[in-house]
Amino acid sequence: MDRLYTPWRLEYVSSDKEDGCVFCNRVASVDPEHFILHKSRNWFLVLNRYPYNNGHVLIVLNRHVGSLVDCSEEEAADLAKLMRFTEMALRKIYNPDGVNCGYNGGAGAGAGIPDHFHVHMLPRWSSDTNFLTVTADTRIIPETLEQSWSNLKPVIDDLLSGSGL
Ligand SMILES: [Zn+2]
Repeated sequence: MDRLYTPWRLEYVSSDKEDGCVFCNRVASVDPEHFILHKSRNWFLVLNRYPYNNGHVLIVLNRHVGSLVDCSEEEAADLAKLMRFTEMALRKIYNPDGVNCGYNGGAGAGAGIPDHFHVHMLPRWSSDTNFLTVTADTRIIPETLEQSWSNLKPVIDDLLSGSGL
């Protein structure tokens, strides 16, 4: 899919490919350039660098396993709580008409990083199935990742404070 306004892709195209698993590398990272929103005992929240829409958040397991089946009971329970808090944040910040939540289980299901389990959550608007998307497979994203991060970070911090997550 092409995107009309994607300044971050220039950096991606011009930078060297990252060694190892990008998600495992993020587990230990404190680099603000990685757009991490929250870290918890079992999962972390990070903006998708190649978003489908504004506010496209990934909920990523701290361990390198490939599917929900591999998660422990505690990890699965924490995931449900983090999905709920993430939806709260997306609804508060973006006032969308709906929210998508899901994962691509394996390469055959379209996963870009099939070996490290992660869940996608993103706000949707009735109007975002627009003319360009339908006819040209092109999406307009008016917000930079820096703006998305600045919008979401304080709301997620507030929601998750005291949650134990
Ligand atoms: Zn990994």
